[in-house]
Amino acid sequence: MIPSRVRIKRNAVYNVVYQAEIEGNKHLEGLCVRITVPGERPVRQIILKKGMSRTQTELAFIHELIHAIEFEYEIAIPHALIYLLEAPIHKILKLNDWI
Ligand SMILES: [Zn+2]
Repeated sequence: MIPSRVRIKRNAVYNVVYQAEIEGNKHLEGLCVRITVPGERPVRQIILKKGMSRTQTELAFIHELIHAIEFEYEIAIPHALIYLLEAPIHKILKLNDWI
């Protein structure tokens, strides 16, 4: 199951939220948001589109999780690589009954 919160680093927790339409884009299945305003608590969210199949939702979650890793660990990961990693990571989680 997809958690409602995911800790990426000790002080970096992303809330997982669901929206019918993300940023007004019908085709967007997920979005990873990190907004930092000096003096304010940063907003960290993984937004997933409501109503997708379980597998689609899990794949989108993994995709956005990799974006969160990019942000929090400052690793530039080419978007094409994120797409390539989604399915194998999903498969490993499934094969080991972690999801
Ligand atoms: Zn992406």
